[in-house]
Amino acid sequence: MKCPKCGAPMESSTCDYCGYTPQTNPTVSNSTGGKTAAAVVTQIFVNTQSAPTQASISPKSRWAALAICYFLGVFGGHYFYVGRTGKGILYLFTGGLFCIGWLIDLVCIAIGKFTDSNNLPLKK
Ligand SMILES: [Zn+2]
Repeated sequence: MKCPKCGAPMESSTCDYCGYTPQTNPTVSNSTGGKTAAAVVTQIFVNTQSAPTQASISPKSRWAALAICYFLGVFGGHYFYVGRTGKGILYLFTGGLFCIGWLIDLVCIAIGKFTDSNNLPLKK
């Protein structure tokens, strides 16, 4: 191996003539390369995966909500199920808004317009 600075043959990692020491490439590229790879991976996950799917759909099932609404809707059961406790208590004391709100909610859940406490549509 020859010294890239003065061209003299190098016996060890440091040149005996000019004192040149080559930059230790493995450590430099490992630390920076590892970071960028991780950054790229996290960026891909943020851009494609978590943002559109996780945030826009409720983990609560629409069919479970529909069944609960059908049997316990006049007591606000479906509102308690999706975490909208305030509306659930209102339904509990008014008999599902005198059954009118209950009927509207049954239709809303069936056509997918019903949302949970985070205002997200229920999953299918
Ligand atoms: Zn040298």
